[in-house]
Amino acid sequence: MARLRWLGHAAFLLELAGKEVLIDPWIRGNPSCPIGLDELGKPDVVCVSHDHGDHLGDAFEICRKHGSKLVCVYEVGCKAEQEGVKPELIYGMNVGGTVELDGLKITLFPAIHSCSCGVPVGIIIRGEGKNIYHAGDTALFGDMALIPRLYGPVDVALIPIGGYYTMGPLEAAEAVALIKPKAVVPMHYATFPVLVKDASEFARLVSERSPETDVIVLGPGDYYEF
Ligand SMILES: [Zn+2]
Repeated sequence: MARLRWLGHAAFLLELAGKEVLIDPWIRGNPSCPIGLDELGKPDVVCVSHDHGDHLGDAFEICRKHGSKLVCVYEVGCKAEQEGVKPELIYGMNVGGTVELDGLKITLFPAIHSCSCGVPVGIIIRGEGKNIYHAGDTALFGDMALIPRLYGPVDVALIPIGGYYTMGPLEAAEAVALIKPKAVVPMHYATFPVLVKDASEFARLVSERSPETDVIVLGPGDYYEF
C-alpha cells in the first residue's frame, strides 16, 4: 500500500516502497500547509520541480537538517550545493533522465513553465509496482500522452488546476484525458487570490471526459491510500 498526503499547494509527502518522498516542500509561509517544518519527520528523498519559492520552499533546509537526498535539475542542484547541501546528497539531473534511488525510479519529465534556474520539470516516481506523476507547474502539452506509454499506467496524477500560473480546470481536464490515470488529485489552486477557488469545475470536466479516472479532492493534510 502506498500513501500520499497533501501538504497544501504543490507539496506532497509520498510513502512508497517503505520510503518517504517529499515533493515541492513549501512548508514555511504556505498558507495552506497544515504542519510546521519540525512536524515533517525525516524524508528519505526530496524532489523539487523548479526553483520558484512556492515549490523549492524549504527543500535545502530539510536536506541540510535531515540528510535527505535531493532530486532536481542540475542548476538547482548547483544552487543547493552553494547553500550548504552536501554534494553526495544531490542528484542534479536533467529533463528526460531517470535515477534509481532507494528502490524507486525517479524521472524528470518536461514541463512548460518558467523559472530562474535551470528548467522546470514534472516528476514521475515509480516503485512497488506503482506510478505517480507530479506535473509541477505546467501548461498543457500533448507529450503528456507518452507518460503511460513509456512508464506504464499512472496510479495517481497530481495536476495543477489553479490557472493564471499554470493550467486551469479546462486544460487540466484535457491533461487527464491524455494521461489516463486511475486517480487524479488536483493541486495548486485556492492558495493565492488569482487562483481558481475550488476543484468543482475540474471534477465536473473530468467526470464528463474521463469517467474512468477518479477525482480525489483532498483537503490540506488529507491522506490518500492506493
Ligand atoms: Zn512556478
